[in-house]
Amino acid sequence: MPQAIQAIRGMNDILPEQAAYFRFVEDSARAVLGGYGYSEIRLPVVEKTELFARTLGEVTDIVEKEMYTFLDRNGDSLTLRPEGTAGCARAAIENGLLHNQAQRLWYQGPMFRHERPQQGRYRQFQQIGAETFGMAGPDIDAELILLTARLWRVLGLQDSVVLHLNSLGTQQARNAYRAHLVEYFSAHADRLDEDSRRRLHANPLRILDSKNPAMQTLIEGAPRFLEMLDDESRQHFAALRALLDAAGLRYVVNPRLVRGLDYYGKTVFEWVTDRLGAQGTVCAGGRYDVLVEELGGRATPAAGFAMGVERLAALLAESGAMPPAPAPHLYVVIQDERFAQQGLLLAEALRNDIPGVRVQVNCGGGSFKSQLKRADKSGARYAILLGEDEVARGEATIKPLREDQPQQIVAQAALAGHLKNLIEE
Ligand code: ATP
Ligand code: MG
Repeated sequence: MPQAIQAIRGMNDILPEQAAYFRFVEDSARAVLGGYGYSEIRLPVVEKTELFARTLGEVTDIVEKEMYTFLDRNGDSLTLRPEGTAGCARAAIENGLLHNQAQRLWYQGPMFRHERPQQGRYRQFQQIGAETFGMAGPDIDAELILLTARLWRVLGLQDSVVLHLNSLGTQQARNAYRAHLVEYFSAHADRLDEDSRRRLHANPLRILDSKNPAMQTLIEGAPRFLEMLDDESRQHFAALRALLDAAGLRYVVNPRLVRGLDYYGKTVFEWVTDRLGAQGTVCAGGRYDVLVEELGGRATPAAGFAMGVERLAALLAESGAMPPAPAPHLYVVIQDERFAQQGLLLAEALRNDIPGVRVQVNCGGGSFKSQLKRADKSGARYAILLGEDEVARGEATIKPLREDQPQQIVAQAALAGHLKNLIEE
């Protein structure tokens, strides 16, 4: 036998049981986003490498070491998208969506990062993201946060996540802060790990985002940006906090929250859980007012977020908050393979006549007893039995599987009407 081929490390199959959690997250997100007037946009999975290299920042985890970059057959450098914001902004500019109008967009789909695979960290993973363009104020920041909070309530996860909030100020204020950070970390250069030493001059803010436990005490002592915030950002942040307070939303101001990418400024936020070990951020976002201009569009304020569907699915599985997948209503048992056609057609007729009914037909034969076992295992409420006598008389037997009730023999022509009442009970 040839050796079985295996999937690529970090690129996982989502099996039916897990897919149910994914779908619950996706369906709920779609409904909540619709309720806030966000429109879906579908974007390519592959973009020119330059799109990410230019926007995410040279000294970021993603650009330095996580991108799946390859040469196309004609020699162009392409990259499997590691995130959705840059592609969404590119599409909005390219398709003229930003001309004198505000936009609220959302997308979902796979992202690719060559990270070390571990619990909650994969090389292909799903994100659902929202991006807004043309709105500069704290009102839209608050809306994005309220929207995510509503989604957690729909998912039953509201008690599993905490909102962390910070402001990264304007680019100018960040530059001034950067100088303070370089000074502080340089004075403790012997305590920096390799990544941080590399970032010290190129991108010292990223040191604050280090996940290395050995770095945490040093980071804790670093100068804090919130105390040096520019006036404009300070007012923006205060107004956002007032809006969240008025909405009764609780949050933690976390001065160490910096986000991994260069294009963020002013508001940044993360929803964090302590139930998934080290990979605790389930949703992250913020304001990125410089990105559209960096991509060659007219300066346009923008803000958004992206959530990790795997981590939310894991949280749902862990919390037991999700309703189980619906079982079939009916399982058609076919006593003899000669009646296979009758069985299939009877099920078709039931699906035609009973809107929303879930019917599973026994395919592949089997003894009467083993078919009834399968019917029971499927979770169906009723077995529909097609035996020699039933077929001869144009009837079917309804056998309740969940209640101790007698079976009933019904004419096939009357079966749908009869079952409709039973199922709706
Ligand atoms: P982290 O700090 O966990 O590395 P990040 O800052 O790189 O996250 P973002 O780029 O902000 O993450 O992506 C938004 C969300 O997507 C994250 O909060 C997380 O839920 C999810 N996510 C990011 N990278 C991965 C991954 N490799 N596998 C699974 N989910 C991921
Ligand atoms: Mg990361």
